[in-house]
Amino acid sequence: MPSLGWLRIRSCSLIGAMELLDIHTHRLYNNPHEAILNCMPWDLSPHFKGYCSVGFHPWYLSGDKSKNWEEFKKLVSQPQVLAIGESGLDKLTTADWKLQEEAFLKQAEIASQLNKPLIIHCVKSFNEIIRYKKELNPVVAWVIHGFRGKKELAKQLLDHGFYLSFGEKYQEESLKGTPLDRLFIETDESEVDIHVLYQRAAICLRMDVEDLIKKVQSNIRNILSYRDNGFVLPG
Ligand SMILES: [Zn+2]
Repeated sequence: MPSLGWLRIRSCSLIGAMELLDIHTHRLYNNPHEAILNCMPWDLSPHFKGYCSVGFHPWYLSGDKSKNWEEFKKLVSQPQVLAIGESGLDKLTTADWKLQEEAFLKQAEIASQLNKPLIIHCVKSFNEIIRYKKELNPVVAWVIHGFRGKKELAKQLLDHGFYLSFGEKYQEESLKGTPLDRLFIETDESEVDIHVLYQRAAICLRMDVEDLIKKVQSNIRNILSYRDNGFVLPG
């Protein structure tokens, strides 16, 4: 990461109140227009009025919770749920592998049925995720969130049509090797402000931060169907 000691966060005129900036976060934003809050299905409050993604994270899978797919589909059909996930495969977690695969495939299927992108958590399971993408050939975007892999892995994923989302920590060469129309910036669980992450990425990419923001926002619009489903945030 470049040193940020000298850096001041500008309040950027291009960050319009209506535009999403952060495709994946676990913390509440003051302005709910700016981020997609990630929730587990049992965490989604009926009172939450912002945008969200909802899915079964592989860390928290259990036989009982992942069984009621009809109910899950109904939940994620709500227009404020812009994406499915984070869902995925993780070889370092204790959750049963078969259960992980079953839950991932079911969520991938529902994402395609509802025309919503899939936000993917992937740890040491890239071969499997690539294989599933080849087999299923989904029409919706598959986004590897929190991508920290090397540039060779980034290239392999990009060649298979994945999108990559970069958070607080990543390999700069991987970010540099990602085409501008295939990348996102996210906070995930980091406390670092999303604007700082944009500034860092812009420095790494040697481009103007406002141009980067505009580009990522256009990527977000491209993969989301919320423009079509009529959902408008109150306020
Ligand atoms: Zn996350």
